[in-house]
Amino acid sequence: MSEPILTLEDVNSYYGNSHVVFDLDIEIEQNEVVALLGRNGAGKTTTLRTITGTVPRREGTIEFRGEDISSSSVDDISKKGIKLVPEDRRIFPTLTVMENLQVAHDSAVDPRPIEDMFEVFPKLEELQENKGRNLSGGEQQMLSVSRALVQNPDLLLLDEPTEGLAPVIVDDLRDVFEEVVSEDVTVLITEQNVDFALNLSERAYIIEKGANAWEGTIEELEDNEELLEEYLSVG
Ligand code: ATP
Repeated sequence: MSEPILTLEDVNSYYGNSHVVFDLDIEIEQNEVVALLGRNGAGKTTTLRTITGTVPRREGTIEFRGEDISSSSVDDISKKGIKLVPEDRRIFPTLTVMENLQVAHDSAVDPRPIEDMFEVFPKLEELQENKGRNLSGGEQQMLSVSRALVQNPDLLLLDEPTEGLAPVIVDDLRDVFEEVVSEDVTVLITEQNVDFALNLSERAYIIEKGANAWEGTIEELEDNEELLEEYLSVG
């Protein structure tokens, strides 16, 4: 086994006094694609926010490339190469596609050329003069992912990328993500659309009430109907 790129050990996090993540352990190796699964409200988004520092972890350790980032600021964590594509996409509605990409590009330490994103998402090149607010849900998601990728992250956190998208758009996105994950990037993805996550990932963690419930390979998960029914409402 190679060195893990990200390690969470006994991590606990809270919203105010509300304890949401309990003694969570996660380990991800370089270039792995790992799914973080669980029912609604299980704590997936909070886990991603804890990794990026927006929800401060209160106990436990988070290491990135062997360095303790448990107490690092949101900005420092971002500069170290961890990028989150949030569930609500947060693109700038009054800026064009190109301007949205430029803002991300110009704030990165070691960005990729914006043109690279047009190779990944040719649709965005066609739409480059369109304002963010005029994009469809699928186009917004492509832009949101591109804004993260243009910053050349070492670790990409994807929070429910297919949420609210029509099935035909989800199929397009699946093809593109397959291409993205074959590049030199490590991915942690949360999804309600279990099939989508299983398709892309090699391993999965299931969390329940903010705590580890199961971990294993995608093959093990797919063969385990009880598990799929119990924690993921599919089977
Ligand atoms: P979903 O798929 O619905 O987004 P999730 O697995 O991502 O679910 P979280 O969004 O992390 O779950 O929520 C975990 C728990 O934390 C839930 O009980 C939720 O109500 C609570 N929670 C989420 N955000 C906040 C917040 N800003 N303040 C207080 N509690 C919150």
